[in-house]
Amino acid sequence: MPKYKDLIIKEIKAIPISFPIEIENRVRLGIGNSIKNDAVIVKVITEGGLIGWGEAHHGRCPGAIAHLINTTIKMLVEGQNATDINAIWNIIYRNQLASHGMGTGACLALSGLDLALWDIKGKYLGLPLYKVLGGSRKSIPTYAGGVALGYQPTERLIEEARPLIEQGYKALKLRVGDNTTDDISRITGIRKEFGESITLLTDANTGYSLNDVRTIMPFLDELNVGWLEEPFPAHDYRSYYEAKKLGRTALAAGENHYTRFEFNRLIEEKNITILQPDLSKSGGMTEVIRVANLASSWMLPIHPHSSKTALNMAASIHLLSAIDNSGYFEADVSKNNLFRDHLTDEKPYNVDENGVVRAIEKPGIGLDVDEVFLKNHPVIEGSSYI
Ligand SMILES: [Mg+2]
Repeated sequence: MPKYKDLIIKEIKAIPISFPIEIENRVRLGIGNSIKNDAVIVKVITEGGLIGWGEAHHGRCPGAIAHLINTTIKMLVEGQNATDINAIWNIIYRNQLASHGMGTGACLALSGLDLALWDIKGKYLGLPLYKVLGGSRKSIPTYAGGVALGYQPTERLIEEARPLIEQGYKALKLRVGDNTTDDISRITGIRKEFGESITLLTDANTGYSLNDVRTIMPFLDELNVGWLEEPFPAHDYRSYYEAKKLGRTALAAGENHYTRFEFNRLIEEKNITILQPDLSKSGGMTEVIRVANLASSWMLPIHPHSSKTALNMAASIHLLSAIDNSGYFEADVSKNNLFRDHLTDEKPYNVDENGVVRAIEKPGIGLDVDEVFLKNHPVIEGSSYI
């Protein structure tokens, strides 16, 4: 086991990466047309040579998020003990979040660093992250999600869904937020084709107005849809309040809410009951565990959002294995996601024939990043959705 001084953080480095999405694999959804994939990988090295890997969400400007980590956060955190995770979290909270508001960029950067520190802690202890967090290697139910199952004719959507169901998935998340007529026809078609044994979830990616929800909610209720995710932008609290009164389908959100302070409001207002913090956005493992504990006291489950890379996906399964109120793991079933399949030495998860996943058994998050892959996929500046 390394000595205390070996745990001192020697270097922090953030690497923004991208790859273009081929035209045939592009998906249209509520936030636009996906044209490339971005991520920010955070590497932390200690004096003793331990290496931690984390992922910060790109915030649609991956170069900027990486720059924040490579300048301000690097200056604040290098020289600290890598296992003093709460103390480091508080340094960034005091310097960045508390004094400048709940800024998205700072929270994304903090999230990536935090995950890398938990990876180091697991490696230091020689334990997989879920064990460090007090969890067990339980079966985690999984739904087919990610940037997939988008706006296409119902027949083609059925053909995209069929192999997923044959593979073992018991739940699918469909993209809505297009127009309510086509959205209703797609959900109805999938429900008719695959029957009631499949759980259907929907995600509008902020594409709806309140009137749209007024139109579609009776159909979601009738078709027994599990949740309607992000009909509105994260901060549009009034529309969520009004939408809650329109039917019984649960409202979901959280991938664009930051820290326990914003989740506290969601929970207390009781309009959004499906909570979806993202480890690479909401404040890292440290903060999402706090959110999960807060939600647990209200008997609400956590269904983490899990873009973009294998690191966040594997970390999300560790999280779900550790909390008492675990919900679904979101599997990214998009075609040709290089960050899921080729960034690391092994796949972040395997969905079995019962539609469940289990955590990786290696120390830390359990994945080694291929540094040649990082070099070969330099950042492409600009928005990933147009
Ligand atoms: Mg979503």
